[in-house]
Amino acid sequence: MPDSDLRKTVIELERSLDREKALRDATRRVALRSLALVSAHVPALEGTVRDVNHALEPGARDIGWLDRLSGQLADAVRSSDHSEDLAEAILNVVHRGLQGFEFLDSELDALTRAVDHRDKMEIERALGRLFAVLHDKCQQAMSEREELTQVVGEIWHRLEDVDTALSEDEARGQRARKSVSELHAGISGDVEDIRGRVLSGNDLPTLRREVSLGLDRMITRVSHFRDAQETELRAAEERNRALRSKGRSLEGQVQALRSRLQQARAEASRDSLTGLPNRNAFEQRLRELSGALAPGGTASLLVWDIDHFKAINDQYGHSAGDKVLRAVAEILAEGVQEPDFVARYGGEEFVMIIHRGPDAAHAQAETIRQSVSHLVVRAGSKRLKVTISAGVTGIDANASPEAVFDAADHALLQAKKHGRDRIERAGS
Ligand code: GH3
Ligand code: MG
Ligand code: MG
Repeated sequence: MPDSDLRKTVIELERSLDREKALRDATRRVALRSLALVSAHVPALEGTVRDVNHALEPGARDIGWLDRLSGQLADAVRSSDHSEDLAEAILNVVHRGLQGFEFLDSELDALTRAVDHRDKMEIERALGRLFAVLHDKCQQAMSEREELTQVVGEIWHRLEDVDTALSEDEARGQRARKSVSELHAGISGDVEDIRGRVLSGNDLPTLRREVSLGLDRMITRVSHFRDAQETELRAAEERNRALRSKGRSLEGQVQALRSRLQQARAEASRDSLTGLPNRNAFEQRLRELSGALAPGGTASLLVWDIDHFKAINDQYGHSAGDKVLRAVAEILAEGVQEPDFVARYGGEEFVMIIHRGPDAAHAQAETIRQSVSHLVVRAGSKRLKVTISAGVTGIDANASPEAVFDAADHALLQAKKHGRDRIERAGS
């Protein structure tokens, strides 16, 4: 790989690191400012503030604090007497801090709409979704950063090797020039000496001996010069060979790393906690399906949301919450078969595509809901019970994927309002 390519790669990688840093800085600013806003409504915020500050230290990996923060913001909105005003203030902070990260645009729009509707529950959910997307992006950016930091380090190392070799070459060139001029001076001296002796008028045998000695000196001088040059040359060749093979192995490493990065980006369609496809994968699937559905063709969308999940986190801890998420994900995954599809939408929300009409999908989802209600998750000596709610809608070939999602999401909201642990049909 020519050095100019190496330098380009370094610049490209460093830009990527800058983007990650910008995202983390902005997230931290938003987190701290929104915490300041809710401090009057939520006790014991110091822990979260500490977490947020730690989160930006170099090498920090844990971003569970983002989920805790999202829970605390939701709490504040829920318990405040002026929750719409509070939500509006949080929205402003989030808007100012995270503008320009276009992957958040639709979440910011949804939060704006929720604040406009002055609907507490809608606001809580929009906040939750915004932070879930932020969580995924930060996590992805952090794992990329780890890979990139390693390769940038290796590349700089290689560039340093090249620099050292170049300055060694230059020094060798200077040494060579110096020894050539020494050789010239030596030979001129020898020639002068011989000329002097020839002119001295000595007898012929003495002259012959002296000239012969003079010539020997010249031959020795030249052969020393040649030996020294050859040693230098061999050392330089050896160095170049080592440098080339280092370069080749680095090239291999960089290539391997790039393909790992590509794979990591492809895996960005999977959720790391539950192993289910993630929101990106779902959105793509829904777009493809909406485009391919024949008029009158049947398919349904379900949006699932675990009930009172925040209370599980609060009472039993975040890792118990994670355990519940994995267990529920497993039940949902067992409840569908290809080509049906289930994904983690973010936080404690899941989405499902079932290739049947809404009546049949509703019935299938009922069985799944019941399985979840029989689930028992162990957290230390405690046994946790969980319930889940869902909204279901038929996927209309003429409606946009966003409209289809909104219909199911609205039905989910109704299920929550009507007491949870239930499934509601859109438009009923
Ligand atoms: P509802 O019945 O109305 O849905 O109430 P809820 O408590 O389930 O809803 P809310 O949106 O208030 O809380 C969801 C919580 O999920 C907030 C956030 O802290 C938590 N959360 C989000 N992602 C994760 C995660 O990956 N792990 C854990 N343990 N908690 C998470
Ligand atoms: Mg939710
Ligand atoms: Mg919930």
